[in-house]
Amino acid sequence: MGPSATVRQKLVSLNPATGEILAEFDPACDTEVLAAVAAAKEAATKWRELGIEKRAQVLLRLRNVVYERRHEIAKLISREAGKPLVESLAAEVLLVLDGCQYYAKQAPRFLKPERIPHHNLAVKGKRGWIEYRPYGVIGIISPWNYPFSIPLNEMIPALVAGNSVVLKPSELTPQTGLAIRDCLHAAEIPPGVATVILGDGLTGRALASSPIDKIIFTGSVATGKLIQTAAAARLLPTLLELGGKDPMIVCADADLDRASSGAVWGAFTNAGQACLSVERLYVMRAIAEPFIHLCVEKTKRLKLGPPDNPETDVGPLIRERQVRMVEEHVEDAVRRGAQVLVGGRRPPLAPGFFYELTVLTGVHHGMRIMREETFGPVLPIQVVEDEAEAVRLANASELGLSASVWTSNLQKGEQLARQIEAGSVMVNDCVSSFGISEAPHGGVKLSGLGRTHSRLGLMEMVQVQYLDVDLHPRFPKVWWFGYDREALALTNGLVDFLFARGVRKRIKGLTGIFKGWRKRRV
Ligand code: NAD
Repeated sequence: MGPSATVRQKLVSLNPATGEILAEFDPACDTEVLAAVAAAKEAATKWRELGIEKRAQVLLRLRNVVYERRHEIAKLISREAGKPLVESLAAEVLLVLDGCQYYAKQAPRFLKPERIPHHNLAVKGKRGWIEYRPYGVIGIISPWNYPFSIPLNEMIPALVAGNSVVLKPSELTPQTGLAIRDCLHAAEIPPGVATVILGDGLTGRALASSPIDKIIFTGSVATGKLIQTAAAARLLPTLLELGGKDPMIVCADADLDRASSGAVWGAFTNAGQACLSVERLYVMRAIAEPFIHLCVEKTKRLKLGPPDNPETDVGPLIRERQVRMVEEHVEDAVRRGAQVLVGGRRPPLAPGFFYELTVLTGVHHGMRIMREETFGPVLPIQVVEDEAEAVRLANASELGLSASVWTSNLQKGEQLARQIEAGSVMVNDCVSSFGISEAPHGGVKLSGLGRTHSRLGLMEMVQVQYLDVDLHPRFPKVWWFGYDREALALTNGLVDFLFARGVRKRIKGLTGIFKGWRKRRV
């Protein structure tokens, strides 16, 4: 049965703190997806021809709209995704404002045609440049955990580079998807240039198989593999931002107070549902006891609760299935010998999808919680003997999104960071590189392909065209047809002149060039 013949479920926007249904929507069908892509194709030429300076102005309009609406957007994200208001403002709205500002200012510079001076004498008579051209239509499929900043910070560089975009946000956060649509509309982005279609996995599949020119996918490894397999069949370029199992290494010389605060924030921000995160922690035995004690005390002080309460530090998880995943990982760890120092269960009698903030010790890589992405409010801490063991364990993962190293010796921190297999490594901080517009974001190993954010993220939105202008159109080229003894002598002379060892042989090469040149019949 094809996707369009399947009975389609409504998209349900829920308040995860209460389980209350906020709104329901119909997913876009295949025909609607194709219509959005066709409209995007139609709009793409005019948008490209508008020029980068004018497109940058549009980004600034979008920034102004988002700023004006910041409070209502933050409230909506908190209500639909469950994160505290501070996080909706800081990790969603602020990142989008910064993304608009950064690319509006820097994209014209980054995408300026680049003169390429030729070093080889044989081609000195030509002028070359690199130019950057948009793909055309970029399809973007995004997750629910940062439902505003992830899709918009992929759309913004795609648009400023001259692409039109069709976005399918997560089925779990459709209202935030509609808020994005409203902002794009209010910023007066021309019709067809930036379209938001609501839908589920089937809608995503339809978008991925529609005639788009590139796909940018952020989500789980499992779905990423499906997208990559389907894309390979038609050589559709992909950018994949997938899961992580981010390690944190705490050295014996770390500032324990700062490191424990970082660990707790990194593990529990967004209720642990962050791609960049602290998913597992390795601490040196010498300082393990006081460090773990600090982590436990700080965890106990955090307030779990509804996101609209300004005192709340951590909200609910997105859905029941996410709570079950956390339960399964904790149960598996406890069965294999882990100790729960705090948390380790659902809070009694709480409505919604809450899980208590949990610190585990006595963990090892035989447990799922140290190998698979948990995506919940759990901090599993493994005690190690030395830094070499910590690095070995940090790298013993199929995933490689981000990592952090904590030490008061910054030089050592950098050295350890370089040994870790991850797309980004922070020394004495975690997670927050995601909020630095200049910092490339993306993974190695199964965590993905390509980069978003930064100059490199903008380069993912363009194709390189090399332009070559011959400055002496009247001269035939020596490498064209007319092969004979003279042509061979000339070519030999050229190779000797350019690459022979010793001045004498080079000069001989030059003579060969002149001789061959005179007799060459091109
Ligand atoms: P998911 O893979 O279930 O869904 C992501 C998106 O893909 C959704 O919009 C969904 O509708 C769509 N989708 C599902 N099946 C599809 C298919 N067959 N074809 C096309 N689209 C399809 O992921 P999720 O649960 O929404 O997100 C959580 C995951 O995302 C975690 O693994 C997390 O680490 C990862 N993530 C990664 C980053 C990053 O930047 N690397 C950022 C955020 C989240």
